[in-house]
Amino acid sequence: MNPFQYQNGELSAENLPLSALAEQFGTPCYVYSRAALEHNLLSYERAFEGIEHLTCFAVKANSNLAVLNVLARIGAGFDIVSGGELTRVLRAGGDPAKVIFSGLGKTEIEIEQALNAGILCFNVESDAELDRINAVAQRTGKRAAISLRVNPDVDAGTHPYISTGLKENKFGIDIAAAFAVYQRAATMSHIDITGIDCHIGSQLTTIAPYLDAIDKILSLIDRLAQAGINLQHLDIGGGLGVVYNQETPPEPGELIRAVKEKIQGRNLTLIMEPGRSICANAGILLTRVEFLKHTTYKHFAIIDAAMNDLLRPSLYGAWQEIVPVRQQFSASEQALRPAHTYDVVGPVCESGDFLGKERTLSIAAGDLLAVRSAGAYGFVMSSNYNTRNRAAEVMVDNDRATVVRQRETIDYQLSLEQVLAD
Ligand SMILES: *Cc1c(COP(=O)(O)O)cnc(C)c1O
Repeated sequence: MNPFQYQNGELSAENLPLSALAEQFGTPCYVYSRAALEHNLLSYERAFEGIEHLTCFAVKANSNLAVLNVLARIGAGFDIVSGGELTRVLRAGGDPAKVIFSGLGKTEIEIEQALNAGILCFNVESDAELDRINAVAQRTGKRAAISLRVNPDVDAGTHPYISTGLKENKFGIDIAAAFAVYQRAATMSHIDITGIDCHIGSQLTTIAPYLDAIDKILSLIDRLAQAGINLQHLDIGGGLGVVYNQETPPEPGELIRAVKEKIQGRNLTLIMEPGRSICANAGILLTRVEFLKHTTYKHFAIIDAAMNDLLRPSLYGAWQEIVPVRQQFSASEQALRPAHTYDVVGPVCESGDFLGKERTLSIAAGDLLAVRSAGAYGFVMSSNYNTRNRAAEVMVDNDRATVVRQRETIDYQLSLEQVLAD
């Protein structure tokens, strides 16, 4: 489902023209579609039908309270990687009993916060972390449910920065070492072993790496069962890809059908932790062209959004489609918009500050552009670099728009800073 379609020659978010949103809320501005978020979560839920399951939205992909709230209302669980994300989930009305805590550097304070909240499970990434969780549970008089995040050493075939399931990656416990760690966990006074998990990478465009990982994990599950350690859930992580350009990622249904087949006859609850595939194409970044700059070598479109607003192109060389909001012009308007191949760049003082390179566009200064597929790893990665106020976030629900995070102000930015007394 694409909620950002042209209606009467103008790009809209559900049933609102983006030009009206730019007028009302200014630019740069993230715009999310409630219907698309719901549709994407429900496509997982539908695929899981018939088996015990939980879909835990990976909060790090988009942690806006309104996004979390929309998903919580239709039953989502959440995959968190920090105490801050846990607080967001709780404020958004998420059910702590559906929260999984991932991440490889959990602090004692975060573990205590999660135990107090009553989360479903800790995904443990090292021996040392297991000891820490047991110690905190003991100190606070609680029991901690754990799963070991195993590293199955499969190549997800994705960008090196978002590939996490190879043995040289920092994530998880080597699958060859996991049996011994489970045995040790079984002896711990305040640990309940409940499951096993993996997360092999992001933006995966085939299901083969998942199935390879699951084969390895199922044989470990069998060995553990022989040793009297019975796991109740299998969490296969997130990572399903989305269409940014010409990719052809599988639908959740295709992946989950294949996984269901593999685990048939086993008494395992299936958990997934999708982030990008829920929210990437439920959001765009709306921006305005400030200037066009034509040099001997290149054409530049200088826009009011920058790498501090949307880092993926600079960080990973990621490609996101950039389209004009207005599509239809009169002949005289068209004459003012000769097509050129532009580098679409922001005002930040870095040569790496671009949102798109070599894009053919017919635009004039003042025109609005939309950067598509910006709902995941967009706003959450934004910063105040160059003392830029972070963008507003708006959620559209049919023909109604709500500011779900206000544009920052300079006073807000400076409020935590202090000069020396003398
Ligand atoms: C980032 C992450 C996810 C979500 O990945 P997507 O590619 O956004 O689906 C899930 N689980 C863990 C442990 C992660 O780190």
